[in-house]
Amino acid sequence: MRIRKDEHFQQEFETFGFVWSCERCVHFDGPGDHCSLLWPHADHLEAAAHDPETPFIIFCKEFDLN
Ligand code: SF4
Repeated sequence: MRIRKDEHFQQEFETFGFVWSCERCVHFDGPGDHCSLLWPHADHLEAAAHDPETPFIIFCKEFDLN
């Protein structure tokens, strides 16, 4: 699922301390190109939230808070 990183989203992201990335997921198993469920990391890493070249945050439906 993709969410555009518009101004409204950025404001709520900061206000509520939104948690969504692989680094905060129980299935994240460190560096590499995929997690323990074999899903690729690249689109779901925390860095994507702060990269100005990335217009969307791409959520993983298997995210499970660690
Ligand atoms: S299940 Fe999804 S959010 Fe969790 S580590 Fe794997 S790719 Fe990332």
